[in-house]
Amino acid sequence: MTQDFYELLGVPRSASEDELKRAYRRLARELHPDAKPDDAEAEARFKQVTVAYETLRDPERRRRYDMFGPDAVRGTGAPSGGGDFGFAGGLGDLFDAFFTQGFSTTGSRGTRRQGADAEMVLQIGLAEAVFGTRHEVSLKAPVTCSTCSGSGAREGTSASTCPDCRGSGQIQRIRQSILGQMMTATPCGRCNGLGKVVTTPCPDCRGEGRRLEDRTFTVEIPPGVDDGATLRIAGAGAAALRGGTPGDLYVHLRVEPDNRFERSGTDLVTPLHISVAQAALGTEVELDTLDGPYLLAVPPGVQTGRVLKVAGHGVPRLRGGRRGDLLVTIFVDTPVKLSKEEDELLRKLAALRGEQVQPPDPGLLSRLRSAFG
Ligand code: ZN
Repeated sequence: MTQDFYELLGVPRSASEDELKRAYRRLARELHPDAKPDDAEAEARFKQVTVAYETLRDPERRRRYDMFGPDAVRGTGAPSGGGDFGFAGGLGDLFDAFFTQGFSTTGSRGTRRQGADAEMVLQIGLAEAVFGTRHEVSLKAPVTCSTCSGSGAREGTSASTCPDCRGSGQIQRIRQSILGQMMTATPCGRCNGLGKVVTTPCPDCRGEGRRLEDRTFTVEIPPGVDDGATLRIAGAGAAALRGGTPGDLYVHLRVEPDNRFERSGTDLVTPLHISVAQAALGTEVELDTLDGPYLLAVPPGVQTGRVLKVAGHGVPRLRGGRRGDLLVTIFVDTPVKLSKEEDELLRKLAALRGEQVQPPDPGLLSRLRSAFG
């Protein structure tokens, strides 16, 4: 099944908010568990289109999705108990972290608790992307409370079964709808769908089982990553409410543009400007590469646009293997502002080669300039 949010909703990438809403409503009517009870496939699709719609209806999340793909806005299950909450404090200028979703339920098959995934953008330089590196990243995120080990209950006490839902985490109701009488299950409001209530809460986390803390992780960046790549650190997201599985941390890499090298797949491209004499006679140029200085032989007679290859000085393939090449594009610069002697030498050269050039007449030159300038 497709994972593309636009395809899931059956809309073009340029779809307006209205088109998104119409598409979602149509699919929701078709797939909602009320309309298709006991149809696991419909329920799964319903959740997917809901996640897709919830993402694309929010302009900021839609922008992130368009930029980074589904990993940037990944959620788990239906966004029933969720909701966005941002974390900006305590992070360096480079980082922009926020959480995508709270805990979720899995409909009629009981409750499941999963901490929110976190994501951040990490900027790295081109050399770091080529050779790989490790970076420390910090984020403020809910972690399991060490005082109560995540139970939320004060020391010596424990959580008890919720009297409203008798531990199921759900309240079942019969209701009338346009499709007839149906049974619906909603998360229990008293215990938030957890099935248990804490009567004497842990003083350190006020019964949440988790506390907001600053955490630091080391991100291993493999050699050869490209701009827009996403790394996942399992379990580094938010801790779930009172136990459960923590979310993951997604680190989106942005490779800063380099003013010397442009990336083209596994090759790097760089321009090299040389003079007319160097182009005609050949030269050796000390070239700045990511691996340090490299003595490049420029053959005589080289023309603008010619590409000289420095093998193995490009970007490594992500899954190992040889590195790409450094491609040096030649630009022959025409000399300007000639001295009297240079002018004479060039005229001599032209005469030797039988080439027609403008006579040294300043009057004519200025007339030409006024005609063409
Ligand atoms: Zn606690």
